[in-house]
Amino acid sequence: MLESLSSKVHDEGRQGEAYQPAVAAAREFRKRFYIESYGCQMNFADSEIVAAILNDNGFGATGNYAEADLILLNTCSIREKAEQTVRNRLHLFRQVKESRPGMLIGVLGCMAERLKSKFLEEEKLVDMVVGPDAYRTLPGLVAEAETGQKAVNVLLSREETYADISPVRLDSNGVTAFVSIMRGCNNMCSFCVVPFTRGRERSRDAHSIIRECADLFEKGYKEVTLLGQNVDSYYWLDEAADHTVTFAQLLERVALIDPSLRVRFSTSHPKDITDDVLLVMARYDNICRYIHLPVQSGSTRILQLMNRTYTREWYQAKVDRILAMIPDCGLSTDIIAGFCTETEEDHQDTLSLMRYARYDMSYMFFYSERPGTLAARRYTDDIPEEVKKRRLDEIVKLQNRLSLEKNKEDIGRTFIVLIEGDSKKSAADWRGRNSQNKVVVFPKGVSGLRKGDYARVKIEDCTGATLIGRVTE
Ligand code: SF4
Repeated sequence: MLESLSSKVHDEGRQGEAYQPAVAAAREFRKRFYIESYGCQMNFADSEIVAAILNDNGFGATGNYAEADLILLNTCSIREKAEQTVRNRLHLFRQVKESRPGMLIGVLGCMAERLKSKFLEEEKLVDMVVGPDAYRTLPGLVAEAETGQKAVNVLLSREETYADISPVRLDSNGVTAFVSIMRGCNNMCSFCVVPFTRGRERSRDAHSIIRECADLFEKGYKEVTLLGQNVDSYYWLDEAADHTVTFAQLLERVALIDPSLRVRFSTSHPKDITDDVLLVMARYDNICRYIHLPVQSGSTRILQLMNRTYTREWYQAKVDRILAMIPDCGLSTDIIAGFCTETEEDHQDTLSLMRYARYDMSYMFFYSERPGTLAARRYTDDIPEEVKKRRLDEIVKLQNRLSLEKNKEDIGRTFIVLIEGDSKKSAADWRGRNSQNKVVVFPKGVSGLRKGDYARVKIEDCTGATLIGRVTE
């Protein structure tokens, strides 16, 4: 579990996704690489940086690993299952390599640090291991591995932000894109591996962020999501102008690129989201009315053990503040069931906090200990699995009820929806999202709308996960 714990939210549908290049692009290069990504949005964004670095060094992408000269797995260390999946993939690639001896296999990302000696020396599954701050050294490591040496660089950096690298877009919808604004995390939430696998917080040069967002807009993208483990603690010193840029200021600058460019951000730590950020959100219509505000538990005692640095009451006051300043703001969260020592009373506190915040959506998991975390060192993972699962089930059921209730309240309302593509169920319907990040599906009809357009949609029906509507004038 703990998909929710890095920046953050895992999109289950994207796990193991391979980079699909434009066919023409692959022909220009002398060698080909294949990259498969796991984990959170940060990892997917990193794969785009890796693709840019490799492109610059003569490697074009392929979506077919059997024809690749270099196979890369960008890994996540957040949950146990992911590790096994990666190991299985590596065994498969090893077999492919037997018939293509020159092929190289590398592991990137969060697992690199922890499993480097296992993958490289013990199991001899890979030729290269490269940590999240060492992607610039990839071309040199490839050259080293080509000579038959094992190539490793898992050093964490205090400075690296890849600010000057223009990522090769991995997703292909051409409408929405992620833009990394910072790396690492200084919070030491006791359940989380991020501070150990991705290192200390570093904020990226604000000018390069604005340039990247403006460039995306010029290329036709209509939405950017500013990405980081803890975006609200973004803080960049502009030495030339002798002033600092906070997250609120950055958000405003991105919003000012164009009123038709939507701006989102993820993820917020409740302790860091300030009134300044909320004021900027309220001021600009193109900053989406949606905040992912991970609570993790509704019990102050458990929150203390998790080292979240806020209490239940403080979090509730933050929710109140957000809704007072942005009344139509959508809220989602991350919840962990069955953290160490969690009692039934603690669990009930989580359920009652969910009812208080009335989240539109939650990422919900039961706790499983991750090696190297503070919790693994300090506490016993003492809640039986069946209890964790039962509590998680209650949390999921409550969230399903809340999501449906909240969606029903939207029936009769009209939203501006950014069209992202065809609905998954029918090519006769468009699929997009409203400002609150809810998925909206509506018939294409004869309106002449296209992917990337905004549509005014009146909601007529819903499920727990989707609003269903019709275009209105
Ligand atoms: S340490 Fe806490 S704030 Fe930082 S990434 Fe992990 S869960 Fe998020």
